[in-house]
Amino acid sequence: MANFAYLCKDMWCIKAHNPSAMKRSSILIIYTGGTIGMKTDEATGALVPFDFSGIYEEFPSLKRLKVDLEVLTIKPPIDSSNVSVENWVDMARLIRDNYSKYDGFVVLHGTDTMSYSAAALSFMLENLAKPVIFTGSQIPIGILRTDGRENLITAIEIAGARNEEGNPIVPEVALYFQNKLMRGNRTTKHSAEALNAFASFNYHALADVGVSIQYNTQYIAPYAPDFSDEFRISESLCNDVIVVKLFPGIRPSTLRAMLIDSGVRGVVLETYGAGNAPTSEWFVELVKEAVTKGVIVVNVSQCKDGAVQMHLYETGLALQEAGVVSGHDMTIEAAVTKLMYVLGKNLPLSETLNLMRRPLRGEFTL
Ligand code: ASP
Repeated sequence: MANFAYLCKDMWCIKAHNPSAMKRSSILIIYTGGTIGMKTDEATGALVPFDFSGIYEEFPSLKRLKVDLEVLTIKPPIDSSNVSVENWVDMARLIRDNYSKYDGFVVLHGTDTMSYSAAALSFMLENLAKPVIFTGSQIPIGILRTDGRENLITAIEIAGARNEEGNPIVPEVALYFQNKLMRGNRTTKHSAEALNAFASFNYHALADVGVSIQYNTQYIAPYAPDFSDEFRISESLCNDVIVVKLFPGIRPSTLRAMLIDSGVRGVVLETYGAGNAPTSEWFVELVKEAVTKGVIVVNVSQCKDGAVQMHLYETGLALQEAGVVSGHDMTIEAAVTKLMYVLGKNLPLSETLNLMRRPLRGEFTL
């Protein structure tokens, strides 16, 4: 925490106003690190950080967008494989501290864990009514063939987009990558190679981008200015959680070590198909023992496409009867971060279970 918090205090704030602007949305770009922020050093040929303060010089086309941009760069930017719970808290604080000043936010992030961060922020930003658009790139922004330029420009346009009433079109945490805007907590990085590295297998795209941006408004969280509560952030996440991926041949002692001896408070159990698991007595008893101890066990399928339906087979029913919570069609990323968020509230067990059983930010389909 100390490291990142220190860096935040020391970050650069760069005003990049476009002089030819008339009436514009104001967007805060938060650059956290990752491939998108790299360019080739002309002299050495090595990849070096891109200086986002020169954003208009590098991308003159941004001037045509009806937005004013400011950029915060975390110093030094991190490779997203190093992202931590503390980093998420710091990102949430940055958005909270700047919430009233901007119409929308673009978070530039490494692709490796972007789905985790987008999912985490979707829970932590409570009563959000402004766009928070995550994006990044597979090829550094300073390389000619980069995918980062388009991702950045379109993410900015989406963060600043307003409907006829002047309200934000996408008032939620979303992830934009390669022509698709997706709900942040529905995404998975599914390719280390393809430029369309992210997918939302179980939820329709919020927008499809071609010659124009086609917003699929029926899938976007409604703008709700009549919130009885103000925007706030949740700063306490409990990372006493574990992901347990089932595989044929898993040993009772291994499972015991993970479910019971580890002392975790939450388990994402990656099951087979529609939420199925072995019916062997030792397996079911171990799961029951964890649940009886108050561990929240969430059933999420190893299949990225489709949902857990524990009532379908005997192999799923046994888990349901053992007190396992259905993760429905949630991604692993959403299940892990939701558990952290909900457990972080330190509520009584029944209330914790209630929050896990219902979608809080559209993270699963009922
Ligand atoms: N390792 C990089 C990161 O996630 C990869 C990327 O940005 O695409 O920060």
